[in-house]
Amino acid sequence: MAQILAPSTQWQMRITKASADASPMTSKMWSSVVFKRNKKGAMKSSAKFKVFAIKSENSTINRLEDLLNLDITPYTNNIIAEYIWIGGSGIDVRSKSRTISKPVEHPSELPKWNYDGSSTGQAPGEDSEVILYPQAIFKDPFRGGNNILVICDAYTPAGEPIPTNKRHRAAKIFSNKKVVDEIPWYGIEQEYTLLQPNVKWPLGWPVGAYPGPQGPYYCGAGADKSFGRDISDAHYKACLYAGINISGTNGEVMPGQWEYQVGPSVGIEAGDHIWASRYILERITEQAGVVLTLDPKPIEGDWNGAGCHTNFSTKSMREEGGYEVIKKAILNLSLRHNEHISAYGEGNERRLTGKHETASIDTFSWGVANRGCSIRVGRDTEKQGKGYLEDRRPASNMDPYVVTSLLAETTLLWEPSLESEALAAQKLALNV
Ligand code: ADP
Ligand code: MN
Ligand code: MN
Ligand code: MN
Repeated sequence: MAQILAPSTQWQMRITKASADASPMTSKMWSSVVFKRNKKGAMKSSAKFKVFAIKSENSTINRLEDLLNLDITPYTNNIIAEYIWIGGSGIDVRSKSRTISKPVEHPSELPKWNYDGSSTGQAPGEDSEVILYPQAIFKDPFRGGNNILVICDAYTPAGEPIPTNKRHRAAKIFSNKKVVDEIPWYGIEQEYTLLQPNVKWPLGWPVGAYPGPQGPYYCGAGADKSFGRDISDAHYKACLYAGINISGTNGEVMPGQWEYQVGPSVGIEAGDHIWASRYILERITEQAGVVLTLDPKPIEGDWNGAGCHTNFSTKSMREEGGYEVIKKAILNLSLRHNEHISAYGEGNERRLTGKHETASIDTFSWGVANRGCSIRVGRDTEKQGKGYLEDRRPASNMDPYVVTSLLAETTLLWEPSLESEALAAQKLALNV
C-alpha cells in the first residue's frame, strides 16, 4: 500500500534506473525497490506530506494508511459509490465517486449521475453532459465496508445510448425470449500484459533486450520465469471479494503476460463482470506502479499475443444431443466470420496470424482439441456428446458486451439461407 504515496515522477525514475542495467526486473527486485524508496525517500518527500509527518521516518505512510483503512460504518450510514463507465476509446475505464446516504443492494436504488463527455472523447464541448445509468453493483475491495463499485452505461440527456454504449444493445439481445430460454453461459479467458512504466516494455524483460525464448514461462514459478504474480494474486482475491465470478488464473506463455477466467456467467452478467474485473486490475496495477496493456500483440515477433477466448454454451448444448446443436452453431459462426472478426477487438490482425496458437484471421476453422482453430471443441464435449465451444478469435481488448451478445445473436437468432448452409456444411465437414 505504501507506494500509493510515492510521488509518481520519483517512482518512475527509479524504475527506469533499476531496469536500465539490462537485467530482468523481477517482482522481487521490484518490491525491494519500493521498500528502499520508502525508507530513504520519506524524508525527501516530506514537504509534500508535511501535514502528516511526525517523528519516525515511516509515520507519513502509516498515518495515511490508517485513514485509507478507516472503518466509517460505526459513525455514518453514508457509503461511497465508485461509478465506473467505459470511455471514448471503447477500452479505457473511467470512474468517479459520490456519497450515497445508505448501503444499497441493487443498482435501481442508486441515482443516475452525469459526467463531462467532452473530456473523455464522448461528447462535444458545447453539449457535454453524458448521463450514467447504474447497472451492476460490486463490493469495493479498495475501500472495504459497505462501499461499492457501480458499473454504469452511458446515455444522452434525451435518453439515447451514446455510440460507445455497447451494453444497451447487448441487454436487448439478452432479454429476447429465445435467448433467455436458452440460458447462455460464458466463460471468458482474459489475457493481459504487464509493462514497466515509461519504457513500455514487459515486466521482467531486460530493457532494450529480450528474455530467453518462450517455453519455461507458461504456468511457471521462480524469479526468472514468473513476473508480476503479486498483481495476479492481489487481483484474484480482490475479484472474489467484490463478488466477481472469477474462476481461475494462470501465468501465460509470454513472460509478463497473465490470464484470469471469469465464468460461467449468464447473459449480460458476463460483460458486467469482465468490465468490473478490468477496472480492478487497472486500480491494482496503478498502485503497483506497473502499466496494464490489453493490446492483442504487445511485442512483435516470436511472442504470443493476448486474447480473450470466449467459451460459450446454451441449454440445448449442455443437454443430451448437445453436440449436434454445437455443430449447427459452428456452422452459423462460419457464415458470419467477417462480422465476428470486425467486432472482436482493434489490432487483432496482428495477433491472428496462424502462429502462436491462433488461426489465421482470413479463414474460419474448427476442430476438436485443436488450438490452431477459430473454434475449438474440447475432448470432453466430444466424448460426452454435449458441452460447450470455445471461440478463440476475440482479442484481449474486445468488448465483452459485443462478443457475448454477438455469439447469442449468431447462434440463436440468426438463420442462414438453406443454400449457404448446405455449402458451408460441406466445406467444414459438418453434417447437421
Ligand atoms: P483453456 O483450456 O482454453 O485454457 P480455461 O480453463 O482457461 O480454458 O477456461 C475455460 C472457461 O470456460 C472457464 O471460465 C470455465 O468456467 C468456462 N466454462 C466451463 N464450462 C462451460 C460451459 N458449459 N459454457 C460456457 N463456459 C464454460
Ligand atoms: Mn485458459
Ligand atoms: Mn491463455
Ligand atoms: Mn482457451
